[in-house]
Amino acid sequence: MAWRIVTIILNMLIVGICCLEEPEGDISIDEIIRNASTGSVIDNRNGDVIVEYDLVLSLDEYEAHYGNINYKDNTIISPRKAVKSDHGGLLWPNGVIPYEIASNTFSYQQRSYIEYAIADWERYTCLHFRKANYNDKRKVVFSNGNGCWSNIGMTRNYGPQYVYLAPNCRYKSIILHEIGHALGFFHEHTRPDRDDFVYIQEENVMYNQLYNFRKNTWYVTDSHGVPYDYTSIMHYSDTAFSRNGASTIVTKNRNYQSRIGKYRQLSFRDIKAANKMYQCKPNWCKYTDYNCPGEGFIGKDCKCWCVGTPYKQCGLINVYPPTTTTLRPTTTTVRPTTAGNCVDKYSLCNYWSTFGRCTSSLFVKNNCKKSCNSCSVTTPPPPPVIICADSGKHCEYWSNAGFCQITKYKWFLIKNCMRSCGLCNSLAREGKCQDNDIECPKLASKGDCENNSEYMEASCRKSCNMCSPN
Ligand SMILES: [Zn+2]
Repeated sequence: MAWRIVTIILNMLIVGICCLEEPEGDISIDEIIRNASTGSVIDNRNGDVIVEYDLVLSLDEYEAHYGNINYKDNTIISPRKAVKSDHGGLLWPNGVIPYEIASNTFSYQQRSYIEYAIADWERYTCLHFRKANYNDKRKVVFSNGNGCWSNIGMTRNYGPQYVYLAPNCRYKSIILHEIGHALGFFHEHTRPDRDDFVYIQEENVMYNQLYNFRKNTWYVTDSHGVPYDYTSIMHYSDTAFSRNGASTIVTKNRNYQSRIGKYRQLSFRDIKAANKMYQCKPNWCKYTDYNCPGEGFIGKDCKCWCVGTPYKQCGLINVYPPTTTTLRPTTTTVRPTTAGNCVDKYSLCNYWSTFGRCTSSLFVKNNCKKSCNSCSVTTPPPPPVIICADSGKHCEYWSNAGFCQITKYKWFLIKNCMRSCGLCNSLAREGKCQDNDIECPKLASKGDCENNSEYMEASCRKSCNMCSPN
């Protein structure tokens, strides 16, 4: 690693007087790739097939994908629907990619561009490129070739796979793009959902080249929830495979029409997709992308990475904001601690609560009452059960005779003739007219009867004079 940094620094000093890291002008990724290649759709070395200018498919992969090939003139004939079969490659185990750079092939500067591109992929993901050793059967070999070509992902063949870099492909952006293929990326314009974002102008596509615009199916691709990206380094330009110079890809968002295919760096969504593909979030990290604002995701450092240039760190958010419950609201006047158990017994309570553990874990529920909003407010005791009945034998008679209104008999009748004397309702109200919180008088004097009326009506009816006049 250290030597790579030294190499990069040395090259930064040298590059200025030698070679360009990026081509001059407003040239697109696909134009560079096209100009650098021979135009053949066959890799004469091993019979692999090249599609979309730079994707290497084995014949098996190709046949599964397209159909037959006419070897005589290197054109595709009768493309058929992709059949359901193994397609493309695999992910690199544990995100480790053994690699080597073919010797006597690249200039010092060109090697440094390869190292720059590798360094970018490593910086923004958990991927680790290490120099291949004798025991590495599977490895990426950066090599010269007839174009800028790469397989998709780790090939199923148990052996080396090549990222071919013809002399005119040896720019950092192209290498970033080709490594993207080797990691498992297809071209952005072939995403299954591309029709929601671009129109393909078939009438402008070169004869027999329409297959380069076939859409992938979700069977072989996974967006990992990352939306379509006009700024992806894997996107081709608006005139890719054009036969007349007119647009073949028209962006629905017109702001990107002349920009697609011309981004030279990994985009935020490229980075996010790679992080998702290779599951870069550490196992010990319990946050999820839902803890990040916007399109943010949890990066390899267990922190939120948000859209930036290309990314920036952003704060975690609580995805489970306390919901309003019938428990006491969280105003300062609430009496949550009456029962003396409204505390978090563990410092991690708030953390656990954000992951919904209050409901899924009895331990958390019992030990994190504060964070779980499960403080037991002193519940008003149920009103006394008042059996509204007459116990006396002649109540109805007494009532009709007007005895209920005679003070002299009142307590006798309350006791024995509640129903007949019509006292049930008023007694029931009296039954509720009490304080259920020893702090009620103090709270009432603070003005809580008005400011926190919901709680006070439930718990401090007496101190708040909320009892119905009898
Ligand atoms: Zn490509």
